[in-house]
Amino acid sequence: MLSVSGVTKKYGKNIACNNVSFHLPPGGITVILGPNGAGKSTLLKSITGFLRYDGQILVNGLDNKSVEAKRIFGYVPEIPSLYPNLTVGEHMEFIARAYRLTDYKAYATELLDRFELSDKRKKFGDELSKGMQQKLNLCLGLLPRPRLLLMDEPMIGLDPHAIKELKQLMAEMREEGRTVLVSTHMIDSIDMLWDRTLIMQGGVLRADVTREQLEKDGERLEDLFFAITEGAAEGSEAT
Ligand code: ADP
Repeated sequence: MLSVSGVTKKYGKNIACNNVSFHLPPGGITVILGPNGAGKSTLLKSITGFLRYDGQILVNGLDNKSVEAKRIFGYVPEIPSLYPNLTVGEHMEFIARAYRLTDYKAYATELLDRFELSDKRKKFGDELSKGMQQKLNLCLGLLPRPRLLLMDEPMIGLDPHAIKELKQLMAEMREEGRTVLVSTHMIDSIDMLWDRTLIMQGGVLRADVTREQLEKDGERLEDLFFAITEGAAEGSEAT
């Protein structure tokens, strides 16, 4: 479903992603874990085609920048970018039109209900609280029912109900055989959900483990994460 090969992204001299490669087969929930500045957002933005990078990214065998690929994946950015002059309902309609969705109204209503935004349908983007903006951001990413959904730190700013709904929706996507790639710096937030974890640090993909492998080795994700990130952090502090 997603093939990332030798992706390197530099901002000036700063290497935000350094020769990152991995392949995701269809289905399952993959988490990109890493401390702040690890390169998670840069990697996701590269996959969406928003950034220029060296290397190759294919979505279902298609160049990620092609229109055909963009029909397959959805993206929930870390910072919601809403239109101040469109209402909540109009935002949903805008996405439906952009993706040429015909039968979307029932699902739009379901999403707004689940994220407790139904009574905000007539509110404008800039009248929403930060948390509501983030919830609408999620509804917009989910509405086209993408086969591959990329989400950048989606739990930040959400209330407990919205976090529960998001986790449930991710589990439903997995059941439907759809693929989720989600970044976070909070290990607790993905607890029992993940099937595979990519651990990034300093722009480098430091580990790529499945839950199955980790359980077989009797290891905990948290211990692996700290062994990788804190071990290296101590080293870099000394230099
Ligand atoms: P993460 O999402 O893991 O917190 P980012 O991908 O945002 O990490 O950042 C990775 C590195 O790239 C950091 O060193 C950050 O300072 C740098 N960076 C990110 N965005 C920009 C930008 N637009 N311009 C310059 N440097 C950037």
